[in-house]
Amino acid sequence: MNLILMGLPGAGKGTQAERITKKHDVPHISTGDMFRAAIKEGTELGTKAKSFMDAGELVPDEVTIGIVRERLAKDDCSNGFLLDGFPRTVAQADALEDILSSLGKRLDYVLNIDVSKDQLEERLTGRRVSPTSGKTYHVIYNPPKQEGICDVDGSELVQRDDDKPETVRKRLEVNMEQQQPLIDFYEEKGYLRNINGDQDIDVVFEDIEELLKGLHA
Ligand code: AMP
Repeated sequence: MNLILMGLPGAGKGTQAERITKKHDVPHISTGDMFRAAIKEGTELGTKAKSFMDAGELVPDEVTIGIVRERLAKDDCSNGFLLDGFPRTVAQADALEDILSSLGKRLDYVLNIDVSKDQLEERLTGRRVSPTSGKTYHVIYNPPKQEGICDVDGSELVQRDDDKPETVRKRLEVNMEQQQPLIDFYEEKGYLRNINGDQDIDVVFEDIEELLKGLHA
């Protein structure tokens, strides 16, 4: 089960990735997580990645492609994998084809969790966080017991600068522009499967499962 998971910020990619990898016992390969871990451990890779990540830029393709090549060659990918956050460029997508063919593997699906722009804006701008406990809420989907107050420590909830409407719109636009060439790439190759992500989390997962059933058949 060799999968790529795609989706804009707020699409629920993280939640679905967790469910898919748990249910099917395949590794969740997130390049963002790998870079963050490398930074934390202070490795050479971390040093290379940090300046780009801090600047909100993509880590150069040769670095990113290299770590994915190594990761996909590991034994735990023998039953499959779920790639998340990779590929982010068409050059990475091209490189992935080479990596997979050199490993004797092929992609099954590119799952794109598709959520309308309005819905994404609502999800992202509604996020609130407690500056002291770090717990996150959502004004509509996951409100605290008392409006604006953290359930854990009673602190006043704040909206991160990242979650302010203007920033959210900008972030979505940038991500959409980045993602479109990849959607086109995989659509043309016949791998793309759009999943309606406007639905309840459980229903989204059911739809994914329905699709994945076909792989076991
Ligand atoms: P993410 O957690 O997927 O949002 O990734 C966090 C950051 O890691 C991104 O903003 C990039 O700087 C870097 N990154 C993650 N994946 C890639 C990738 N496939 N190509 C280049 N940079 C990446």
